[in-house]
Amino acid sequence: MQNLLHNLNQEQLQAVTLPAQSALILAGAGSGKTRVLTTRIAWLIQTGQISSGGVLAVTFTNKAAKEMLVRLSAMLPVNTRGMWIGTFHGLCNRLLRAHHRDAGLPQTFQIMDSADQMAFIKRLLKANQIDDEKFPPKTLMYFINSAKEQGLRPREVDAYDEFNRKLVQIYEMYEQQCQREGVVDFAELLLRTYEMLVHNQPLREHYQARFRHILVDEFQDTNDLQYRWLKLLAGVGTRAPAAVFAVGDDDQSIYAFRGANVGNMTAFEQEFAVENLIKLEQNYRSHGHILDSANILIANNSKRLGKNLRTDAGQGEQVRVMEASSDIQEANWILDEVRSLVREGSPYNEIAVLYRSNAQSRVIEHALFSANMPYRVYGGLRFFERAEIKHAIAYLQLMDNPHNDAAFLRVVNFPARGIGARSLEQLQDAARQHQLSLYAAVPYVAGKAGATMGQFVRLIESTRFETQSMPLPEMVDMVLERSQLKQHYLTEKEGADRVENLEQLVNAAVLFVSEEGFGKDAPAFAGPRAENITVISSGDVQIVDAEAALPAVMSPLAAFLSHASLEAGDNQAQAGQDALQLMTVHSAKGLEFNNVFITGLEEGLFPHENSAQEEAGLEEERRLMYVAITRARRRLYLSFSQTRMLHGQTRYNLRSRFLDELPEESLKWLSPQTKPGWFSPPRKAAWDDNPSSGANQIASQMRKQGGQDNGWRPGQNVSHPKFGEGVIVQLEGSGSQARAHINFGKFGMKLLDLSIAKLEKI
Ligand code: ATP
Ligand code: MG
Repeated sequence: MQNLLHNLNQEQLQAVTLPAQSALILAGAGSGKTRVLTTRIAWLIQTGQISSGGVLAVTFTNKAAKEMLVRLSAMLPVNTRGMWIGTFHGLCNRLLRAHHRDAGLPQTFQIMDSADQMAFIKRLLKANQIDDEKFPPKTLMYFINSAKEQGLRPREVDAYDEFNRKLVQIYEMYEQQCQREGVVDFAELLLRTYEMLVHNQPLREHYQARFRHILVDEFQDTNDLQYRWLKLLAGVGTRAPAAVFAVGDDDQSIYAFRGANVGNMTAFEQEFAVENLIKLEQNYRSHGHILDSANILIANNSKRLGKNLRTDAGQGEQVRVMEASSDIQEANWILDEVRSLVREGSPYNEIAVLYRSNAQSRVIEHALFSANMPYRVYGGLRFFERAEIKHAIAYLQLMDNPHNDAAFLRVVNFPARGIGARSLEQLQDAARQHQLSLYAAVPYVAGKAGATMGQFVRLIESTRFETQSMPLPEMVDMVLERSQLKQHYLTEKEGADRVENLEQLVNAAVLFVSEEGFGKDAPAFAGPRAENITVISSGDVQIVDAEAALPAVMSPLAAFLSHASLEAGDNQAQAGQDALQLMTVHSAKGLEFNNVFITGLEEGLFPHENSAQEEAGLEEERRLMYVAITRARRRLYLSFSQTRMLHGQTRYNLRSRFLDELPEESLKWLSPQTKPGWFSPPRKAAWDDNPSSGANQIASQMRKQGGQDNGWRPGQNVSHPKFGEGVIVQLEGSGSQARAHINFGKFGMKLLDLSIAKLEKI
């Protein structure tokens, strides 16, 4: 038996071995929270306090869940595959599959990701002739999702005015259409499970009795519904509630914009009767200068539960800071630094480049690509979001559930089969009239249109029949063949990449089947394996107890389709390769690297302009910066740039206030330091030194353009309703095309259309 406990410090040891009561571990980044949580699971099982099936653990990403399973199987001689470890969404998916009848869902229900959901809403508006300018799809999506996250069905939403009544009505239509098609969105996974457990007492009591230990990582980012879900499953208020072990860091709460509620930590302490609150203050990840920077930065936030971090690792190297003249120069500098790190012996995958928004990655990727440097982007366009893969998935969805209208519409005329918009309108009318799915409504369409669509239905049916007993990978291959998708892309000029991706999908299926423990020859359509289902009796109700392992609750095909909607779906082909890691700060949560670059440290970008206006938004940005800094073990690089192309516009940003909040003694400037920070006017001196710099061009244009266009002139002080006071730096265009580059101090440089912007001279 392995000694699990020997490499823990005193506080960690105490946390791992707490008695079976609810506990909160509140600790800063890199203090071993995730390690403690994983070790506690192993310890509970190893000491016989619980069986591996009695534990439920929630992680923030699927990647984290996988890592936890790997660590556990190294610590324990048990089959971890059957364990209930996953994200809230993943765990709910399993429960709903096993109990789809109790949840009122078809067994083949399919999951919509947010892009699917947006398309679904647009389609709904169109079909019901609702003005999408008055009711923008984005607004509706936000409305529906936040209602669900508060646990509210349409009839429970407080519709206080005409507009809101209409929103609620659309929400209701949305639900009916989802039910008709057998699709659920992300929030629905949680709400459905929650409601199922609320209404079904035997089922609830069964799972409450089963999961005696519930463990939650990254607890600071749970939203209200997730919190209630935990409370229900843990049986808070019952005679014997489960022990909930929550670990989190209020300083790393970075999902408030998506409804996460850090207040759940304080609520948890009271409502779960927490007797043990443990703080871990020893950091095992980062060297001193990095940690000092993180600690001093986050001290600027006011609403904190209060804790600190120390390290024994020594001060290490200072944090390196670089000011670039452009985003392209910034990218080239990263490239040079990465080259020298690699020369010094660092593997690529111990180097991470972080940015605040996805749009920033393009320039960096371009530089890396041109230099032939291996890199991998997380959270960009996911493998499963590529058009050709979406098409293939749509065919697979129709195999499993032909009533999924979105899938039907996506491929009924792709590749082209001569089915026009007119025929589809006829079909949609018929479907509405008879309250059917599009697939089921095909026989109601007369004439040639009906006949062509009938052929499509037969294609689906016959492919389904042909693949009946095939294992998943073979089936996927056959579907690519029969659908003519591959042939279609082969004839396209730049289709080779797409064909390659389609072939990757077959590989992804091979990998998936083996990783999830489906038999190699298990037919893609085969339902849950009988030997994995235990029927137990609870009073006079029979309950089918679900195992966590996917084969116990769904067919290989259904599991693969869930995987496509729920998982990050990074291209498997790249997975094992040693490559530089590119990602947003949000997706770096929980990870660590020897070397980290934080790029684009500019006002308006990081802190982001949407958040910088209010104190709460700014504090969330600062926590995000804290997360970014604390990813680094040994070496941290910070960079910003004077100009940047973003969304087709050149921006002249001032350096981030966060840089000025870091302790000077921990920083080492690689570029000449231009002081002071974000509140200063543009750095004229630096511009004048460099004859080719943008500033000189601006200066010469200023001279040319001075005085024209309705009295706007460079140097004019103006005020703007959103950005406050600023000064015009440069004018361009004339008449109705006139635009001005204006420096708004802490909001940075903006390019505004003078005929639209509500500017006032001051
Ligand atoms: P985050 O807040 O970023 O999620 P965390 O608190 O979850 O961080 P871990 O990822 O669990 O921290 O641990 C950080 C690093 O410190 C890991 O590499 C882990 O293996 C190591 N570590 C944790 N505890 C110890 C210990 N007692 N001795 C040695 N190394 C440790
Ligand atoms: Mg962690």
